[in-house]
Amino acid sequence: MSQLAPHNWGVLGYALFWGATLLAGGIFFRRIRQLVSYMLLGRKEESFRQVVSRAFSTLVIVLSQWCQLKNLTSRDRAAIGHAFMAWGFFTFSSFYFLFIIIGAGFGLSETLEDTKFFFYYAWVMDFLAVLVFTGASWGLIRRFIIRPARLKGEQTAEALVILLSVFFHPLTHLGKEATGIALGGTLTTLGNSPPPISAALSNLFTGSAASIEAASTAFFWTHWLTVLLVLVLIAYSRYLHMIASLFNIFFRSPLPVGVLRTINLETAESFGASKITDFTWKQILDLYSCVVCGNCQERCPATASGKPLNPKKVIQDLKRHLLEVAPELVKAKVSAPAATGGPGTPEAAPAAEPQYMAGTVVTEDEIWACTTCRACDNVCPIWVDHIDKIIDMRRNLVMERSQMPEPVQQALQCLATREHPWRGTTASRTDWTKGLGIKTLAEDSNIDIMYWVGCTAALEERNMKVAQATAKILQAAGIKFGILGMQEVCCGDPARRMGDEYQFQTLCQKNIETMKSYNIKKIVTTCPHCFNTLSHEYPQFGGNFEVVHHTQFILDLINSGRIKVGSLDGNKVVAYHDSCYLGRYNNIYQQPRKILKAIGGLKTVEMSRSKSNGFCCGGGGGHMWMEEEPAKRVNIKRTEQALETKAGLVATACPYCLAMFEDGLKTKGATEAVQAKDLSELVLQAMVTGK
Ligand code: SF4
Ligand code: SF4
Repeated sequence: MSQLAPHNWGVLGYALFWGATLLAGGIFFRRIRQLVSYMLLGRKEESFRQVVSRAFSTLVIVLSQWCQLKNLTSRDRAAIGHAFMAWGFFTFSSFYFLFIIIGAGFGLSETLEDTKFFFYYAWVMDFLAVLVFTGASWGLIRRFIIRPARLKGEQTAEALVILLSVFFHPLTHLGKEATGIALGGTLTTLGNSPPPISAALSNLFTGSAASIEAASTAFFWTHWLTVLLVLVLIAYSRYLHMIASLFNIFFRSPLPVGVLRTINLETAESFGASKITDFTWKQILDLYSCVVCGNCQERCPATASGKPLNPKKVIQDLKRHLLEVAPELVKAKVSAPAATGGPGTPEAAPAAEPQYMAGTVVTEDEIWACTTCRACDNVCPIWVDHIDKIIDMRRNLVMERSQMPEPVQQALQCLATREHPWRGTTASRTDWTKGLGIKTLAEDSNIDIMYWVGCTAALEERNMKVAQATAKILQAAGIKFGILGMQEVCCGDPARRMGDEYQFQTLCQKNIETMKSYNIKKIVTTCPHCFNTLSHEYPQFGGNFEVVHHTQFILDLINSGRIKVGSLDGNKVVAYHDSCYLGRYNNIYQQPRKILKAIGGLKTVEMSRSKSNGFCCGGGGGHMWMEEEPAKRVNIKRTEQALETKAGLVATACPYCLAMFEDGLKTKGATEAVQAKDLSELVLQAMVTGK
């Protein structure tokens, strides 16, 4: 007697089986076709390189569930529940294809079931059914009873139907297996020990053979109809991520993390994204992939500090907007006159114009609230890129509509006229070098390494001390270095993150030309923003240099014995703050901590949020020059987290972070008790006064 049993009802059973399966499959494929046509409204994007390595890494990420488990924390174990549900989904789906679609659908059930492979597969499914059931039960309890902050407002009917389908699915599977065993089905004859959980449950079925057979048929059909319901739900609900996320991970950007797309300023017809069709098809695929888990919302410093930005909401709002306007746009595209090149070609522009997004779909306040800290991108289980969409919308506001907050306009104006964003400064780029005997490359270009100072260390009073400390360390180590001095212009990061791609490219090309004229090979810099831009974004324009951050360089000097670092007096407790552009953008977490460890007399403590889960200082994405309501300042939140540690020192490795902490400590009235220092300052101090 088969345990996969549409044939229990003879021809009618098969007719019903195939009728229902084809109907659900038809609904599924029709909707997927529709969604693909919406996606192709987007601009082109090159993502087809390295197909084999992408396919391999996608399989590893998805099958291992690293996408979820990377976010596993001691406080939040939801990732484990999801991983069990996903492993269950993969195993059950393969089972359906093999044993039900091929087996039961073509009347081969008994042949297939009469194999050892089926027997072992049934064992695996037995345990997985319990794990999936447990995962779904936990999901229901968590979402509808515990309600963690990041899922607030997500207790929707859609979420309930999805979780109930996952809940009933393993139950009906076990019922089907248990009744099969009770009836003396294949699993009892193939081996001595049938799957233990189903076998135990089979003891519940003690009635007549006819009644158990009726129960078995009922379990089969409820199970199969649940499967078909899930198939339809995949196409019409957030379940879509089960398919979309696979492609989203496969097509993830090949660029280093956080690197923005370039715009070809000579050929581009428009700049950035004003309408949904200005996004690329991959950016639209991001919208389909979002599973509304709320991880990004939970980690976002803008959301945490009460700003209008919530990255999950931005993605959901864009998706909703796409689904609203896309049917008309596709219709218009299909009926576009042949003269435009016909449907499917880039020239076949839709006649129906989609609406502007900034101010309607996403507010301008949301667009400007982002610090580009990457906390959202980093934690997203399916590689949704939030920042590229926000920056594309900024690009459009700045480059096409000249619409931006006044401080942004002033910083950009300053960049255009003085080639740095520090509007109020009267200092020159070389004032900080007075008395240090530092030469510019124009004076002496025979160097081992160039020190890229960066606008903030060169021009902002507090940070000049960091430039001086770094230079003194290099001198003490006997490094032959030089600076560009007045020839250095802003690296362009503030302009690019504020949406002014034109200015970014102008500054970037000017710097590349200058550095190439001096045949520069290696650069050290104190600023993680400069470090990131010079390392990963200058190559987009032919600027290929070896760039190291001063924390990497100083650690090497310590390890190689070129500088001797002693102990600091006072047995101070120090908390290190991870700069987003050093940590999440460049994975530099250990070097700064190792430097602190090398300095004697310091006890290091971690803040509640650190390393890849670090909390932004609030200065990135142009926010260094923006004004914010005091109650909603990100740096105040971060300063509070630092004060919670009771550390007497906050160590940083970024000029923005240092300036933000100086301001935060002042606002909190904590400057007496806590000092903010760059690591170079601490190292220099330990070299001078250290014992
Ligand atoms: S980059 Fe940072 S500030 Fe911007 S949306 Fe993401 S988490 Fe929020
Ligand atoms: S964008 Fe990513 S992290 Fe944010 S809710 Fe969607 S799936 Fe979760």
